[in-house]
Amino acid sequence: MELGADYIDIELQVAHEFINSICGRKPQNLKIIVSSHNYQNTPSVEGIGDLVARIQATGADIVKIATTALDITDVVHMFQITVHSQVPIIGLVMGERGLISRVLCPKFGGYLTFGTLEAGKLSAPAQPTIKELLNFYNFRQLGPDTKVFGLIGNPVGHSKGPLLYNTAFKSIGFNGVYVPFLVDDVAKFFDAYSSPDFVGFRFNPDKWWRINQSNCTIPHKEAALERCDEVDPIAKSIGAVNMIIRNPSDGKLSGYNCDYIGAISAIEHGLRGSHDIHNTVSSPLAGKLFVVIGAGGAGKSLAYGAKEKGARVVIANRTYERAKQLANVIGGEAIPLDELGDFHPENKMILANATPIGMQPKVDETPIPKKSLRFYSLVFDAVYTPKITRLLREAGESGITVVTGVEMFIRQAYVQYENFTGLPAPKELFRETLATHA
Ligand code: NAP
Repeated sequence: MELGADYIDIELQVAHEFINSICGRKPQNLKIIVSSHNYQNTPSVEGIGDLVARIQATGADIVKIATTALDITDVVHMFQITVHSQVPIIGLVMGERGLISRVLCPKFGGYLTFGTLEAGKLSAPAQPTIKELLNFYNFRQLGPDTKVFGLIGNPVGHSKGPLLYNTAFKSIGFNGVYVPFLVDDVAKFFDAYSSPDFVGFRFNPDKWWRINQSNCTIPHKEAALERCDEVDPIAKSIGAVNMIIRNPSDGKLSGYNCDYIGAISAIEHGLRGSHDIHNTVSSPLAGKLFVVIGAGGAGKSLAYGAKEKGARVVIANRTYERAKQLANVIGGEAIPLDELGDFHPENKMILANATPIGMQPKVDETPIPKKSLRFYSLVFDAVYTPKITRLLREAGESGITVVTGVEMFIRQAYVQYENFTGLPAPKELFRETLATHA
């Protein structure tokens, strides 16, 4: 204080004593932050409210409360306090599940947030760097009217989504932000984040989002179907939703599936190659034998999309029962996955892997022996880490056209962006951003 600091941050336990000790000597421009830290949990809204009153009673200029997130829904308690606070308030929820409390601070009335100068040099769990706050989340552009979009997953930390969408939002001055939502329970999440500020959600397209609900394992995408008030007819037929949008007028949640458009348009583009770019009326998939490996969310999307384009669909899955179920729904055939290598009723078939086989770290795995690939004219892999999987590498070595999961990811991202914003997707910017940060 004597050296002219603008702010002094003092713990609640000693605040009375400290403030009494400087009585009559406090410089006019000095602001006293009185802090309370809870490393165990996040109290209820009432509990935090009582704490705010106790801190205010010390004579604090700024109230600071940091709690710990056991679940992402804890952050809602803090937002409810900061957004209605009559006094300047810093409200942060520590830990990975509390990250959005730090990023969305300007939207919900927080006085300031904390960022680290260097990655890894944290003063509290899960602090982002200042660079990330400014460049990755466009922190300076966020305000009360900013619309929040996000990626739901577990884990969700390394997704390219926030970078892609926030770069695009900034490029056109769109008042939105895209954040990672680390979610343990989808139903609980949607109950807590029911305000119109949270408008668009995407589910992480990775194997981890299988979650445990009521003793049975359901992938997020399929659990999400039940949370929607309305489901797009295509997503309903596929049986999986991977994008949810909140209607601004009545708050209802509508579910969509953008995976199938991403995957099918990438494969069609691969089939057309450079020869037939002008023929966009009929699909090059019409009449083709299309073999899908997998019967989960991506498998269903691919099987449905291929069938819709007039292909004859065969589903090969580890759990044969699931393959049969899907084949019955879409009108196709099913085979057990271990018979795929010997399955070659004709030449020039199309193969689409929609399982995590070959995904990092198990990059040496492949769903089909290399010698069996010669019956195919195009091979697609939904896996996008690595970009070139063993399956695609062996197909390429066999002279077969390959289409990557990255291409599917980019194309579904266009659809998602257009649904979220109502604006055309900046396709070149998406590709450049992904290429620069590959
Ligand atoms: P999912 O719903 O969990 O389904 C996984 C499917 O893979 C199931 O059919 C499962 O068979 C099968 N499977 C899992 N592990 C296997 C193994 N070790 N051996 C044989 N089969 C196995 O997952 P999903 O959403 O469909 O995703 C599948 C893959 O697609 C993931 O790698 C994901 O990253 C990728 N994906 C990519 C994009 C993109 O934009 N590029 C989008 C969506 C998904 P059972 O029925 O026997 O369990």
